[in-house]
Amino acid sequence: MSDCIFCKIVAGTIPSRKIYEDDQVLAFHDIQPAAPIHFLVIPKQHVASLNDCTSEHAALLSQVLLAVPKVARELGIAADGYRTILNTGAGGGQTVFHLHAHVLGGGVVRPMSDALPATN
Ligand code: AMP
Ligand code: ZN
Repeated sequence: MSDCIFCKIVAGTIPSRKIYEDDQVLAFHDIQPAAPIHFLVIPKQHVASLNDCTSEHAALLSQVLLAVPKVARELGIAADGYRTILNTGAGGGQTVFHLHAHVLGGGVVRPMSDALPATN
């Protein structure tokens, strides 16, 4: 998609701090890290969000998820653990509409109860 920032990162027309790449996926550091280690894993193919996935995207989704521990090991955070998040839609906090998994680690990740949406 020509106006998609992550498609531009895949195409190399805008820079990224790339960590891992294979035929199907790309991993790079988040530009605004929310943890000491914060990287994104994206499929090279444009898919807007998890809401747009069907059984046809099963391989793509598994490639994204399987890249997560691979990159986490490479960055040395796999043993301690990390959080993986897929924000979906505006209500889920998604701002870039190209499917991506956030991976946060390298420090103490707060319990999920601290990350619940505000109730009012
Ligand atoms: P989300 O809010 O789940 O859509 O996450 C989008 C993420 O992409 C945010 O954490 C941004 O900081 C990150 N981001 C946006 N532009 C770039 C970029 N050019 N390089 C790396 N990360 C980016
Ligand atoms: Zn895209």
